[in-house]
Amino acid sequence: AQALLGRAKQHENLGAYLAFNEDLTLSQAKSADARIAAGERGPLLGVPLAHKDIFVTQGFPSTAGSKMLQGYQSPFDATVVAKLAQAGAVTLGKLNCDEFAMGGSNENSAYGVARNPWDIDRVPGGSSGGSAVAVAARLAPAVTGTDTGGSIRQPASFCNVTGIKPTYGRCSRYGMIAFASSLDQAGPMARSAADCAMLLTAMAGPDIDRDSTSLDHPAEDYTRLLGTPREGASAAQPLKGLRIGLPREFFGEGCAPDVVAAVRAALSEYEKLGATLVDISLPRTELSIPVYYIIAPAEASSNLSRFDGVKFGHRAAQYDDLIDMYKKSRSEGFGPEVQRRIMIGTYVLSHGYYDAYYLKAQQIRRLIAQDFQNAFTQCDVIAGPAAPTTAWKIGEMSDDPVANYLADIFTLPASLAGLPGMSVPAGFGSGQLPVGLQLIGNYFQEAALLQTAHAFQ
Ligand code: GLN
Repeated sequence: AQALLGRAKQHENLGAYLAFNEDLTLSQAKSADARIAAGERGPLLGVPLAHKDIFVTQGFPSTAGSKMLQGYQSPFDATVVAKLAQAGAVTLGKLNCDEFAMGGSNENSAYGVARNPWDIDRVPGGSSGGSAVAVAARLAPAVTGTDTGGSIRQPASFCNVTGIKPTYGRCSRYGMIAFASSLDQAGPMARSAADCAMLLTAMAGPDIDRDSTSLDHPAEDYTRLLGTPREGASAAQPLKGLRIGLPREFFGEGCAPDVVAAVRAALSEYEKLGATLVDISLPRTELSIPVYYIIAPAEASSNLSRFDGVKFGHRAAQYDDLIDMYKKSRSEGFGPEVQRRIMIGTYVLSHGYYDAYYLKAQQIRRLIAQDFQNAFTQCDVIAGPAAPTTAWKIGEMSDDPVANYLADIFTLPASLAGLPGMSVPAGFGSGQLPVGLQLIGNYFQEAALLQTAHAFQ
């Protein structure tokens, strides 16, 4: 823990961390040592980790990357944080992210950009940008992230790390600062699928008393299939019998040729491992952008109403009356992207527009989920690029919100359907920039996804 804290401080220019509490980290490390000395064993006992600043943590500020929550100290730990601590993990600090997890480049953080270690003039992706940077630059062996529309998978892809978003409801959202509650999911990011499996085993499980959308489904050991051939397969061809569906919509014009080439090369490795590639279609892929960018802002506008300078958050120093206080506090506390989403969300929920936008989006969301179920009659796992391009230059797209939204096209469908998805390093595109292979499974198929990813690593 001490060495990693030193290394993290040495590489502060990467903007990965937002907060440390060295005394707390070292005291957690000492108690892990004591548990080990007492004979306790466990895969995460004494392992130093860091948390995306969306998770509330005692002893560290929890800001969600927003000025609105500057200096906020939570009186409790998020369930995911508490579960990892229970498993013996040691918290190194809090990680940079887009404000309230809204973004895909980490440029929307109120605390500055995070830099991609593969090219520090480029974005690391987002919103879990600091998380991806910390793992890629070896400032933490593994971290937590959250994924609402791709925020684990896309930064994992940009920074050459492995990350998994489990089935919606698998990890408790208790203590995760809410963005879009019907989509938000926690998950691990690490150097390998095996490491992710160990973390996810500790993170997942029911928490129905504290998160009403937590699934009442027993905790499981996600490491159980790692390194074992599929049923009926051999050690030489461990994935024999696995049908990998390639959605044609993920390989068309919308995807950069260098990304397609790296993903196809990874897929031919999968063929060598015994898998067969199947052509499939997810016909409503394109619609996932307008659908997500109606539903997510709608939920965000509702969730963020609590930050009024009274119940929560920054309060303006000077104001005339109550309404003026709300206006000034929220204008000062929220950054431009968050304000944009609150306005979009409020608009689509308002009387007269609700049916045309929000309700319609919910109907199409259901059809997108149905498309996946149709696809899973033809294949076991779906694969494609995690993002249509490699990491872009810092500042290149920061004044073009629509360009940022379009870049989410390949991660949004699984999010809208609530399906588990992961990104695995596939290789490199032009300029030696990392490319991630996205694997999407059916509900509760995390162990099989991790097995598939692990076979390739
Ligand atoms: N990039 C997407 C957005 O801006 C996804 C973010 C996320 O998954 N938290 O909403």
